[in-house]
Amino acid sequence: MSLRDLPSVDRLLSADQADELVAAYGRPLTVQALRTSLESARLAIQQGHDVPQEADLISGTRATLQSWLLPSLRPVINATGVIIHTNLGRAPLSADAQHAVSEVASGYSSLEYDLERGARGSRDVHTEHLLVRLTGAESALVVNNNAAAVLLVLTVLAHEKEVLVSRTQLIEIGGGFRIPQIMEQSGAILREVGTTNRTHLKDFEGALTDNTALILRVHHSNFKIIGFATEPSLPELMDVGHRHDLPVMDDLGSGALLDTAQFGLGHEPMVQESVREGAPLVAFSGDKLVGGPQAGILVGEKALIDRLARHPMARAVRADKMCLAGLAATLNHYVMDEAPDAVPVWMMIAAHEDQLERRAGEWVQQLETGEVVPGRSTVGGGSLPEETLPTSLLALDVPHPNAFADRLREADPPIVARVENDHVMIDPRTVLPGQEQALLSGLTAALNE
Ligand SMILES: *Cc1c(COP(=O)(O)O)cnc(C)c1O
Repeated sequence: MSLRDLPSVDRLLSADQADELVAAYGRPLTVQALRTSLESARLAIQQGHDVPQEADLISGTRATLQSWLLPSLRPVINATGVIIHTNLGRAPLSADAQHAVSEVASGYSSLEYDLERGARGSRDVHTEHLLVRLTGAESALVVNNNAAAVLLVLTVLAHEKEVLVSRTQLIEIGGGFRIPQIMEQSGAILREVGTTNRTHLKDFEGALTDNTALILRVHHSNFKIIGFATEPSLPELMDVGHRHDLPVMDDLGSGALLDTAQFGLGHEPMVQESVREGAPLVAFSGDKLVGGPQAGILVGEKALIDRLARHPMARAVRADKMCLAGLAATLNHYVMDEAPDAVPVWMMIAAHEDQLERRAGEWVQQLETGEVVPGRSTVGGGSLPEETLPTSLLALDVPHPNAFADRLREADPPIVARVENDHVMIDPRTVLPGQEQALLSGLTAALNE
């Protein structure tokens, strides 16, 4: 047995089974994969293994090619019960939004073309009128994400100038969005105001200088301050703003357009409330509680929005056509007052307890194992910390729950579940209706392994 007994790439290529690989994957990639297979065989032989059969080398090459081409970004089944799961792509789109995205993606569109005049148009018009109608603001601008929206405002309004922020609001959101760092990137100078738990209006007044350009209020998003704590309200901050001719930006993060309290949750600050209170600028994400594609949405006074839109940085952080199409279709659901029945994030928040219990019960019947136990789902996405929604979980009592959960992630599509009290838990709230069959076959396969 020696390296000389290994076939050459050319010889493997001329084998019958190789034709199929070349047809499926193209010649150059097949050659690269054959070389990879031969290289590993060479290493194995040097370590004392036998020379592999040609057929084995080719089937190994097929597996290599498959693994090279398997996309790493692919759909998964979210069985965690976290509705806006940042690591799992946040908001799933409504059927209408999916359709709108797919239509503009597959052809040309009126992205920046005014069909009436037959001349160049603006990409901002597609979502602006909807946002104005929904929030009551004068004007709106959509950019790549909310981090970009905040960066844009700080860059345009406060470059080399001071921005006042309460120390209670110097937050970090998952994924490295930190208010002080965004401030640094924009060239704005952060002026921290007050203390960790208590900031008063007079702290803001005391921090004003000739170089102050903006007052920033940031929604805590993913944490809560309890106990001896206070912060000025938005109207109070705006009062200071008015007296000193300074704009106030309200960074809401999740940006609820519906009242979460009607679904048995705490009240998440709403965009309409900030606008009604007169905030000159409000920033929020498109893919948190709005339930649309990744986007950063700015609504507010027309003069300020126009200034932002004209700045070169707006060009660098602009939203793409798929985002704008998906967002417009999502916003339409709110305009037509059908969001709780059409936008998946709200459908999941609004899901009835008995409906969740029935789904989990049906799964127990079909799997012929497991039991239905009460549990809690969460909204996620930096909103409503500590708040949960009662749910019914499918609890699987398996010998090694963590190893079982690992196997579920190898299913196609992968299933992401949580392990609690030594059981693998599947929360029906976040399993989309169209994924039920795939969930059950994945679970069945893992149970039979
Ligand atoms: C989530 C969040 C952001 C970042 O939004 P992205 O859309 O993820 O960029 C900014 N500010 C606040 C308050 C947030 O909650």
